[in-house]
Amino acid sequence: MNRVGKRIVSGSGKPSCKGEWAGLAGLVGVFLLLGALAGCVQGPQVYQRSQVLMGTVVTLKVVARDPERAHQAMEATFREIRRLEQLLSTYIPESDLSRVNAYAGLHPVRVAPEVMEVLQDALEVYRITRGAFNIAVGPAVARWGIPDHPRVPSREELASLRPMVDLESVVLDPEKGTVYLPRKGMRLDVGGLGKGFASDRAYQVLRRYGIQGGIIAVAGDLRVFGHRPDGRPWKVGIRHPRREGWLARLDMEEGAVSTSGDYERYFMLNGIRYHHILDPRTLWPVRGIQSVTVLATQSVWADALATGVFVLGPQEGARLIESLRTSRQPAFRGLEAVIVDEKGQIWVSPGLRGRLEWAGDSPPGI
Ligand code: AMP
Ligand code: MG
Repeated sequence: MNRVGKRIVSGSGKPSCKGEWAGLAGLVGVFLLLGALAGCVQGPQVYQRSQVLMGTVVTLKVVARDPERAHQAMEATFREIRRLEQLLSTYIPESDLSRVNAYAGLHPVRVAPEVMEVLQDALEVYRITRGAFNIAVGPAVARWGIPDHPRVPSREELASLRPMVDLESVVLDPEKGTVYLPRKGMRLDVGGLGKGFASDRAYQVLRRYGIQGGIIAVAGDLRVFGHRPDGRPWKVGIRHPRREGWLARLDMEEGAVSTSGDYERYFMLNGIRYHHILDPRTLWPVRGIQSVTVLATQSVWADALATGVFVLGPQEGARLIESLRTSRQPAFRGLEAVIVDEKGQIWVSPGLRGRLEWAGDSPPGI
């Protein structure tokens, strides 16, 4: 995987005021000097950087007064995301998760506490979605080969993988820190929540560096905190699933937004769209839905639920969001969603109605 460090920046230049101070002091006295000084004190600005990590572009925007501090914080954040990638990526053969998969049917494998945590979160969302979110779909994801070697596997091939997609048989031992896949050929794939998990960790690093506001964007998974330098909230866009640009935008100060869509990774064959989110029952790409956006307090829940609700489909997905947002569980406080079905009809959860700015005319509800 290549890593590209790019410095794109809004307002990183240090103002140099020395010459102006001397000239002004000589010319017009103390009041004007004070005025000039005030103008030269740099206020908070947005600093932005992007790197390719976890197979996608990770962009950080941070609000800071000191560019050095901003860049140190961003460097540390990228290091943390890279560290998590080394643990969780199934593209890296030595990662903890790749080792778990490689020893399927043989023996338990010791993993880092972060890996145990991601797997426990995944199990929780498996239960909440009654199996729609299932990270044991790994063998089927590999057979569809999206996006690198796309192909349509035969029905027999997919049927032969069914016994492997059995998350309930996975043995997690948090005390020993081990994970065991009991059947050869089983394969866990945390693509549905790993980026969200990483965004939450990235947020913690930025806060440790004293950063008061910013956005962490790992592809379609965003973690937002604080506000813009002018005190206004951040604007977050929800991508249109069938057109360039955004479908809707909203103001956000604190929380996470994740979108899962059939347009992210897919191939077209004979006019049919084959994408990367699979129904664990059929092991075929899910039909009847174009995209799901979930807002939550933490990115890991937003990410996993966006994928899980996508699999459940528009009606059952909306029902799950309704029941979770009224459940009073702290993890799902502030949970909201936007669901776009196969016809492009849009459902918006009650707490978001009136908060969205639409790109076109106000859309019809389902
Ligand atoms: P996301 O982009 O967050 O919706 O995640 C999609 C990724 O999750 C896919 O590329 C697969 O790696 C994985 N995945 C596919 N189907 C499922 C599923 N039913 N449950 C959990 N993860 C899945
Ligand atoms: Mg997801």
